[in-house]
Amino acid sequence: MNLSDCKIIVSGGGSGMGRHFALRIAEAGGSAAVGDVNEVGLAETLEAAKGKPGKVHARRLDVSDEADVASFVAWARESMGGLNGLVNNAGILRDGLLVKKDRETGNVKKLSKEQWDAVIGVNLTGATLLARDVVASMVETNTRPGVIVNISSIARHGNRGQSNYTAAKAALAANTVTWSKEFAPFGIRVGAVAPGMIETPMTQGMNQKARDALVAAIPVGRIGLPEDIWVAVRFVIECDYFNGRTIDVDGGLSM
Ligand code: NAP
Repeated sequence: MNLSDCKIIVSGGGSGMGRHFALRIAEAGGSAAVGDVNEVGLAETLEAAKGKPGKVHARRLDVSDEADVASFVAWARESMGGLNGLVNNAGILRDGLLVKKDRETGNVKKLSKEQWDAVIGVNLTGATLLARDVVASMVETNTRPGVIVNISSIARHGNRGQSNYTAAKAALAANTVTWSKEFAPFGIRVGAVAPGMIETPMTQGMNQKARDALVAAIPVGRIGLPEDIWVAVRFVIECDYFNGRTIDVDGGLSM
């Protein structure tokens, strides 16, 4: 699919990588409908999109809310005058060891069910609801070709302190295969990009020591940038023969 033909929803487009993807789509003359719980961030994305050849539309969206997803998808289709894709990017972290023993007190702490539910609710259920409703909309309107890009993570391979995040991102990569098979008859491709450690507000909030140690372990010698991930997202959108696979883009860092 040509970028200039894109009428694509970008979830989590009020920050980090989602904003970068939406602006790149607009630069190429395409349209992006960005949704995010961060309304201040959405306004900043709209401001940054001013003067670009394509158009960015923005509205609040909580991907974990089924009714909100349905109304957002209908609004996005209406606003862009069509809908032929999704960058399934909204995500959160609620890290913690499943079971932790405090070195000094000996107290045993467990990952809370709230931490588990929050991450599964946004990163897996939310991403699934959005994919479902975007595809349903394309099928109802007989729109083809279409493309879905799931943003997974290299944590999909397993990572200490991230049981919830790993479960969600691994499931998203697995369902990239499932959905590529299910949606092929509708002319819709599905691919995934699994970033390593990327410079965004998500990683800027990390403990500095842990962040430095992780960056030091990256073979290419630097943290990734949203543009590094955009190159892969763009490939998934543009390559009509790419389907059902997940690309790890991590500078060689493996977990
Ligand atoms: P980010 O800057 O935190 O952007 C994510 C955006 O999603 C934020 O604006 C966030 O809002 C929003 N969001 C959270 N919950 C939402 C919900 N229920 N509905 C809609 N939007 C919601 O993070 P990023 O680094 O750009 O991450 C983008 C994607 O890449 C995520 O799926 C993340 O898991 C994945 N990823 C990131 C890295 C990395 O190193 N940065 C690595 C691998 C994968 P709030 O700020 O209000 O929470």
